[in-house]
Amino acid sequence: MKTIEELTRPNIWRLKPYSSARDEYKGATASVFLDANENPYNTPNNRYPDPLQWEVKSTLSKIKKVPSENIFLGNGSDEAIDLAFRAFCEPRTDNVVAIDPTYGMYQVCADVNDVEYRKVLLDEHFQFSADDLLAAADEHTKLIFLCSPNNPTGNDLKSDEIRKLLKEFDGLVVLDEAYNDFSEAPSFLEELDRHPNLIILQTFSKAWGCAAIRLGMAFASTEIIGIFNKIKYPYNVNKLTQQQALEMLRRYYEIERWVKTLKEERQRVEKEFSKLPCTVKVFPSDANFFLARVTDAVGIYHYLVGEGIIVRNRHSIALCGNCLRVTIGTRLENETLLSALKRWPENGKERNV
Ligand SMILES: *Cc1c(COP(=O)(O)O)cnc(C)c1O
Repeated sequence: MKTIEELTRPNIWRLKPYSSARDEYKGATASVFLDANENPYNTPNNRYPDPLQWEVKSTLSKIKKVPSENIFLGNGSDEAIDLAFRAFCEPRTDNVVAIDPTYGMYQVCADVNDVEYRKVLLDEHFQFSADDLLAAADEHTKLIFLCSPNNPTGNDLKSDEIRKLLKEFDGLVVLDEAYNDFSEAPSFLEELDRHPNLIILQTFSKAWGCAAIRLGMAFASTEIIGIFNKIKYPYNVNKLTQQQALEMLRRYYEIERWVKTLKEERQRVEKEFSKLPCTVKVFPSDANFFLARVTDAVGIYHYLVGEGIIVRNRHSIALCGNCLRVTIGTRLENETLLSALKRWPENGKERNV
């Protein structure tokens, strides 16, 4: 692996970060704060939030079994994805490699930052080969993006292949585990200290049921986390979000129940879905959604919209011809979907695969 200094953009490596009032006074004894030009009225929202969210991180640290110093919190995982580009990729010079198909934000962030995005097609089982990704990389490849379980395909990537890539790639591997809570595969968090070039992304938006509060997590070496902290907006996670996150972390056991219910429901819905006349194939899923090939994805998508049911049409995505991506909802929501599909007027007519 290259050193973090070699991987970091020179301007970022040299950067002297903004120093906020809360960075400069960190003591616990003061009671009169006249240093940040805040309004003394309207408690508690008059005060700037903790720029490094230490209370959230220390609670999270116990649950994730990762030291607080190895955690970055951002405005959704999307912030960490964007920071990875801004920290490591020189526009118009460096490039990144990613599996295809996968989550669309990696390419959007690459485009915004004017960084070349190289896609490597998954195989027919939606698996990747480390050798193929490495063959697409060159001396300007700073990041390789993996997503496991992958969106939109729903499957876990093979962990041995991920380990091989971590060992052989001399840049950083960003492993997006947004859906790991729904998978039987262990998180790579357990191996974080063995891989200095690994950045793991997780989020409060899926299993934690908190998409609205915008809170994403990145786990990596202290050196990488230090660079993210240096370039992030000083108060990137607001106080209301930090409070709600602490509340959710206290209700840890409730999340485990949601996940168990959603996994049971996934199994049931996949089975029922595969019996529908309009279904060609349901792909096995390790997430809270599944991908299914149907007889006519575009027709069924529009029919469902008319019934007030929205799924994701993935027909135009690589390897996903005539595929719909279906999120697991409540039992009632899932039944509404299944019964609408049983009533699809084109059922039994000639297939258009
Ligand atoms: C939903 C999702 C996320 C979550 O992004 P946030 O910005 O944290 O809401 C991240 N990665 C993948 C692959 C996702 O599907």
